[in-house]
Amino acid sequence: MIRFDQATVTYRGGVTALDHVDVEIPDGEFVVIVGLSGAGKSTLIRAVNGLVPLTSGTVNVGDRDVGQLTKRQLRALRADVGMIFQHFNLVDRTTVLNNVLMGRLNRVPSWRSMLGWWGGDEVELAMQSLEVVEIVDKAYIRAANLSGGQQQRVGIARALAQQPSVLLADEPVASLDPPTSHSVMRYLQKVNRELGITTLVNLHFLDLAREYADRIIGLRGGRVMFDGPGSAADEKV
Ligand code: ADP
Ligand code: ADP
Repeated sequence: MIRFDQATVTYRGGVTALDHVDVEIPDGEFVVIVGLSGAGKSTLIRAVNGLVPLTSGTVNVGDRDVGQLTKRQLRALRADVGMIFQHFNLVDRTTVLNNVLMGRLNRVPSWRSMLGWWGGDEVELAMQSLEVVEIVDKAYIRAANLSGGQQQRVGIARALAQQPSVLLADEPVASLDPPTSHSVMRYLQKVNRELGITTLVNLHFLDLAREYADRIIGLRGGRVMFDGPGSAADEKV
């Protein structure tokens, strides 16, 4: 379970990006966060893995109070939380497989990853992650040679290779055309359904949110304006 309790984030400069947010997300839920640009979506997601510290209130991931973790515990939390980005954040000049193996960096001793010494079990896990997003045939292609939709599927596979219990996707389809956006949302949903990974996705299109979310949280000015089943969300969100 992920739990926000009166979570508030005020940035230097005075903008309050999250304003006393109370939200509980049970394990395995597929939650889409919607809201206009500046509503606080990205801040909410980044608070989960401690990338943005709260000004007041708490956020808990399982039994971990994110604001109270030591550096080592924070690293362990981040190894357990997969991230998917708007601009994919792949290393263009290397292969898809190597990109997915980067998802293992926090899971193997650093001397091994520095030497590029990946065991067969690591490679097999990476290949299985590519299979989930049906792009295993591109394993030895350079990431730069893939389309945007394919790159995002690799982004998902890299996150899966971490064997996370939570996935955070910050505007994962904002750089993609509508058909490709649907395809990426379907893969995220598949991952949630088949692997049971709790998933938080930021979107700014309500129609996509409604189609795929178990639950929609609508933010405005850092406050929760709507919180309910995807199907019940209306244009006011
Ligand atoms: P969204 O993801 O919904 O677009 P954000 O969480 O990125 O919203 O931003 C919420 C508000 O916080 C915005 O007004 C934004 O300008 C501000 N903000 C975001 N990041 C920072 C930062 N690092 N420093 C100062 N203000 C920020
Ligand atoms: P590069 O020249 O960038 O290393 P290659 O095409 O030679 O690219 O190799 C692809 C990458 O895939 C290798 O760098 C390696 O990390 C990884 N790889 C492929 N097969 C294996 C394997 N059996 N064990 C470990 N790593 C592998």
